[in-house]
Amino acid sequence: METSRYRGAGKASADPSLNGALPADRLGRHLHDLRISVTDRCNFRCVYCMPKEVFGPGFRFLPKEEILTFEEILRLTRVFVCLGVEKARITGGEPLLRRNLETLVRMLSGIPGIGDLTMTTNASLLPGRAHALRDAGLRRITVSLDALDDDVFRAMSSVEVPVRRVLDGIRDAEAAGLVPVKVNMVVKRGVNEDQILKMAEYFRGTGHILRFIEFMDVGNSNGWRMDEVVSAREIRDHVAARWPLEPVEANYRGEVADRYRYADGGGEIGIIGSVTLPFCGDCNRARLTADGEFFTCLFAGKGHSLRSLLRDNRSDDEIAEHVRGIWAGRRDRYSELRSEATVALPRVEMSRIGG
Ligand code: SAM
Ligand code: SF4
Ligand code: SF4
Repeated sequence: METSRYRGAGKASADPSLNGALPADRLGRHLHDLRISVTDRCNFRCVYCMPKEVFGPGFRFLPKEEILTFEEILRLTRVFVCLGVEKARITGGEPLLRRNLETLVRMLSGIPGIGDLTMTTNASLLPGRAHALRDAGLRRITVSLDALDDDVFRAMSSVEVPVRRVLDGIRDAEAAGLVPVKVNMVVKRGVNEDQILKMAEYFRGTGHILRFIEFMDVGNSNGWRMDEVVSAREIRDHVAARWPLEPVEANYRGEVADRYRYADGGGEIGIIGSVTLPFCGDCNRARLTADGEFFTCLFAGKGHSLRSLLRDNRSDDEIAEHVRGIWAGRRDRYSELRSEATVALPRVEMSRIGG
């Protein structure tokens, strides 16, 4: 049985024995958020993430034995919490495809020191499950939705799921108290920019927070081109021309969305300018793939296997030391350095790393 000081020790900052354990990376950034991908599979084939031409019937997804068990995810998350993580987000692929996800949510929400536990989902499998997720300890939810018109939604997601189903998921999340719901809309020029105002209008006054996201060059599959990015400024100006906007202060350091409120009291929106307004200087996120690879940047070419340490019977202390060393050496700032040359580099796919 583990007797490690990392096991169940609670938030690192609250544990004097761990003082000095919090790693700052080479650019002075502290670890705060953990994204946990629970599967690399998805029931959608969004053009900007898992284009069906690449993620077709012959695509090799992770076999079951390579995927972390719930116990392994719990153990790693505890280690990360002891190293300073206060916020965890469950993601994928599509996290709701992972069987018994509520059980994992319950396990993670019981970790002392987890201040916030959230999930990002396409919501197609959410109707009927939101209450159970909330009961298990999920605090909030982010739903991805790129269009209100079914034909545009189909052009983005490449599936026959009606928009209504996603909206039902949002409604259930609201009824379960997973509020405010954040709604992520990736904007791709030539495909869905005509949905910007429709989406803004639909979510105005609902209390939900619509967040527009610039189309990013994650992975090497989505055929990314700069001229298909609708910039944060363009999005803001477009919305503001219809409903005047006022900037809102960030909630906390490291918040990726620039926040705005409608001047007429219609609520709040966010704009994530990952490409044109990089925020690497405040990047405090660690990412764990479903097969236990630890990534320090969304655009990294390779990760660091923590599963091999787990399955090699290493102690929590040893795993923590390993993570600390990786974080201490971290100097990622891909978005600040983005160029034609970086775009050609190999990068992990979004469906593996989870956004
Ligand atoms: N399947 C879930 C979903 O779509 O919400 C969770 C995983 S998905 C990879 C996480 C987020 O990444 C989604 O909000 C999605 O829109 C976003 N995303 C994926 N590829 C992207 C890209 N190329 N540019 C910007 N955002 C992207
Ligand atoms: Fe699936 Fe989410 Fe990627 Fe769309 S963005 S293909 S829903 S993982
Ligand atoms: Fe963080 Fe990498 Fe994104 Fe910069 S490019 S904000 S370092 S994930």
